[in-house]
Amino acid sequence: MTYFGAIETGGTRCSCAIGDDAGNIIKKEVFPTIKPEMTMPQIFKFFIHEHAKTKLDAIGIACFGPLDLHKESPTYGSITTTPKPSWSHFNIVQAIKTAVSVPIGFDTDVNGAALGEQRWGAAAGIDTFIYITVGTGIGVGGIIYNHLMHGLIHLEMGHISIPRYRGDNFESVCPFHENCLEGLASGPAIEKRWNVKAATDLPDDHEAWDLEAYYLGTAIANWSLTISPKKVILGGGLLNKKSLMDKVRKECQKSLNGYLKHKIILGNIDEYIVFPKRMGESGLLGALALAERAREV
Ligand code: ADP
Ligand code: ZN
Repeated sequence: MTYFGAIETGGTRCSCAIGDDAGNIIKKEVFPTIKPEMTMPQIFKFFIHEHAKTKLDAIGIACFGPLDLHKESPTYGSITTTPKPSWSHFNIVQAIKTAVSVPIGFDTDVNGAALGEQRWGAAAGIDTFIYITVGTGIGVGGIIYNHLMHGLIHLEMGHISIPRYRGDNFESVCPFHENCLEGLASGPAIEKRWNVKAATDLPDDHEAWDLEAYYLGTAIANWSLTISPKKVILGGGLLNKKSLMDKVRKECQKSLNGYLKHKIILGNIDEYIVFPKRMGESGLLGALALAERAREV
């Protein structure tokens, strides 16, 4: 059996785990995301200890962005201009490498999650698909012809402009964009719009979910037109509200209005827009898949 380390860094928590090449998470610890000087020593300690016990072949990091992912860049491996000032320009790959000298895989949390779902989850055997997470932010990762999507930077599809629902004058929570998906439909947007502490407090039949489905369904329609994914994996904390999924599927069909004439979209949309297979675990599983890929390079 081959063992890997996995790190999922989030805005509030960093999860560290040991997993195997069958996608099993064997051991997991969670540390609060404070400053690198406080959080990193805990991460180092975890991996140094585990590596001494069980040799790790590689470590994967699925990280909140924006990130420098260009291998030839002198700052490859760093978090670039995050709103979390103490993490800005912090080189997480270098830091981990100094503590444990193994190959390191590194990508965005959503690209990692996409890779993990392809390796061990809902996108097994599918070469072109997207993975969406709807939580504190909205992020999208994708694989095209079996390649993780990277370009000039990395995808920031959560910030696409989206047509507002008629009469919706809510002030976007995104500091950059008045009409972006994240600004109108992320967890914090729902909470501010409906004046609740947590989106969890809104009952199933609240109109909030119809509006949310309109925004997510319209965005997925746009991505269906531009990327032509064979599957759309839709996860993140908001999708714990399970009834949201069917509403999103219907809104996606409504927005496409019969234009994309494929049977999976017209007739079997529940096989087109799907939950992650490892809901709640996608990020860590993604880090595991990034580790496995780093070993193979
Ligand atoms: P992060 O983006 O920080 O990883 P999550 O993906 O865990 O966050 O999503 C957090 C969001 O999901 C919060 O806005 C929370 O209110 C919402 N959420 C979590 N569980 C539920 C639920 N059962 N119903 C509706 N919203 C939920
Ligand atoms: Zn935005």
